[in-house]
Amino acid sequence: MIGTLIRLIPGHARGQLTTYVVLSLVSVILRAASALLLVPILVALFGSNPGDAWSWVGALTAVTVGGWVVDMVLARIGFGIGFALADTTQHAMADRLTVTPLRWFTADNTAVARQAIAASAPELVGFVANLLSPFIGALLLPAAITVGLFFVSWQVGVAGAIALPFLLGALAASQRLVRKADAADTAAHSALTERLVEFARTQQALRASRRVTAARSQTGGAITAVRGATVRLLLFQIPGQLLFSVASQIALILLAGTITTLTLRGDLGAPAAVALMIVMVRFLEPFTVLADLSGAMESSRGLLERLNAVTTAPLDEQSRNDQLPSGESRAPRIEFRSVEFGYQGTPVLKDMTFTLEPGSTTAVVGPSGSGKSTILSLIAGLHRPQRGQILVDGTDVTAIDPEARRALVSVVFQHPYLFDGTIADNIRVGHPEAGDDAVHRAMALARVDDIVERLPDGAMSRVGEAGTALSGGERQRVSIARALVKPAGVLLIDEATSALDTENEASITQAISDDPHRRTRVIIAHRLDAIRNADHVLFVDHGEIVEQGSIDELTARGGRFAEFWRRQETSAGWQIAADAAGRA
Ligand code: ADP
Repeated sequence: MIGTLIRLIPGHARGQLTTYVVLSLVSVILRAASALLLVPILVALFGSNPGDAWSWVGALTAVTVGGWVVDMVLARIGFGIGFALADTTQHAMADRLTVTPLRWFTADNTAVARQAIAASAPELVGFVANLLSPFIGALLLPAAITVGLFFVSWQVGVAGAIALPFLLGALAASQRLVRKADAADTAAHSALTERLVEFARTQQALRASRRVTAARSQTGGAITAVRGATVRLLLFQIPGQLLFSVASQIALILLAGTITTLTLRGDLGAPAAVALMIVMVRFLEPFTVLADLSGAMESSRGLLERLNAVTTAPLDEQSRNDQLPSGESRAPRIEFRSVEFGYQGTPVLKDMTFTLEPGSTTAVVGPSGSGKSTILSLIAGLHRPQRGQILVDGTDVTAIDPEARRALVSVVFQHPYLFDGTIADNIRVGHPEAGDDAVHRAMALARVDDIVERLPDGAMSRVGEAGTALSGGERQRVSIARALVKPAGVLLIDEATSALDTENEASITQAISDDPHRRTRVIIAHRLDAIRNADHVLFVDHGEIVEQGSIDELTARGGRFAEFWRRQETSAGWQIAADAAGRA
């Protein structure tokens, strides 16, 4: 844990660590001294010359005041390190996640990232001063008192030296019992949180399929698991607490017995014995503090490990060569050469070979699940081929610097994600350097200006969380404007399968054909309109290209695409007929 903490503390605050460690030791020594000084005070007070006690009281005062000063400085340093920790880790996590390959974002890692990011800054800021310092103090104080006891009575010192590892061992064993149950409990709770979020998000679908009660979804299973884990936690806590309490009683008997024996034998005077009994209590106190703090320490250890897991998440593979032959706005030639790719060992694309000419528009058509979106992800560099090569103007896509690759490609996702900002902000995400003119041009192309005109604050209207203030079609248009504002040489569009209204469909197709930028475009198309404008068609099925060529070539061939085309035209005919009937 200390190693993880040191790794997370930023370089500029690390210099303070040595001072922090030295002052922690000084603080412990001063506290041990203040406990042990009771012995000479009581001995002097009940001795032949009670006035001597004043000098020891003076020493006690000096040690106590010194302890306060040291603790104040320690708290300042502790908070300084805590602020540095909170500040840098939150930035480091945000930065890291933007350069982490997508395959890292499994359900487990996403949950870890979510919990690490949700960790409140006060928890991190106060970690060193409020938790680590008292913990270190409680851990070292009994040892420091034991060393001091040897100067008062070596026999009591030996008793302390025996009790110390015994108590620490018992505490560790009881904590281990609780920790095991705690880990299962935390895992069950975090699974429940994920299931509940999923349950809330999928309400619409669950209600439609009449699976609305929690017990009938996966949430029901997660709730049962949490109940079981909580019961186990309680069952483990009892023997854990019992073990430590028995060990404390044994230590108490050992120390008190030693003091009593020495007093009865006349080796210790009564005042010294009374003082040592008080010192004994001070010796045992920190173990209770350790037991109290260990739960918080355990949860902080989990937090630090999660922070560490996110800040050290793997990086996107570094380029071997960042020389991209094309400028960011030049439409490149894209070639797939015997590309194979699969998810978690399941093959999806098999031996895929095709070329997309510079500035051309290609429609990727095929049944659902055939691998169309996967092709787009590979071009965008979100995944790497497992076999074969993807060349961009002759350069292997894996050799292109991730930054240059990001600049090269603009994507319209099937389910566009808008964040809670203004429409203009959401468009500018595509190209933060874009001037107002460029944003307005993109808005006009994607017909976002129609939406903006209706809204009271125009382009400055907020879109609500995840764009909920806009309709599905409007969100789609904003996301198209976002893609068009970016001067990228490659435009990838994963067209929504859900039925957008005809007006929206037409505006998307229009926006793409009116886009003045020369780009190599790839559209996953489900509608005739989008396909009609394509220079080239790839018909994909079961991860293979079963047909490719121009629309005329493929319709003339009478194969799979011709069948698809015929069915689309028939259904378009039906739609026109139905519209006409509706108007009549
Ligand atoms: P399409 O776009 O043609 O509908 P996709 O490329 O989305 O097809 O998916 C092809 C296959 O890969 C499907 O069987 C799908 O279930 C699977 N798949 C897609 N994305 C993932 C993923 N992230 N993890 C695992 N399997 C995936």
